Amino acid sequence: MNTQSLAAQAGAPVTGETFALAHLGPMAGIDQYKLELPFLPRAIRGKVFLKDLLGLTSMEVSFNKLPPGAGMPFLHRHRKNEELYIFLGGKGQFMADDQVFDIEEGSVIRVAPNGARAWRNTSDEPLTCIVIQAVAGSMAQGTIEDGERLEQPLAWPEN
Ligand code: ZN
Repeated sequence: MNTQSLAAQAGAPVTGETFALAHLGPMAGIDQYKLELPFLPRAIRGKVFLKDLLGLTSMEVSFNKLPPGAGMPFLHRHRKNEELYIFLGGKGQFMADDQVFDIEEGSVIRVAPNGARAWRNTSDEPLTCIVIQAVAGSMAQGTIEDGERLEQPLAWPEN
């Protein structure tokens, strides 16, 4: 449901055997996208999930934009997934359990599945972030341990 709706708005992704690519446009315009969920009375603007669009299998990623003065209307937690919030613009506050932190561009916050969380925009600009969620404890190896250099030559096409 999500996939069709987002693909209709953003354009169907370009896919190959090992990749899927889509263009969402600039973060500043992310509120052009509407997320419709069956249990919500109206569509949410400025929230885009990528798992279904790109066929992600180990993580969910969302682009988020909150207008000035707006905030999440409730606390939430997760059953299995930890979340990483990467703030890209604006200023606001983030609540994690009983603590409140100021956040701005460059703030990154990891929250364990059972952490109660919410965030709000306290600035005059949009508050934008990318949220990545993945099953806590599922990563076997990361960073350079998982990458392998290929012997085939790197050949870009001529422009
Ligand atoms: Zn969440």
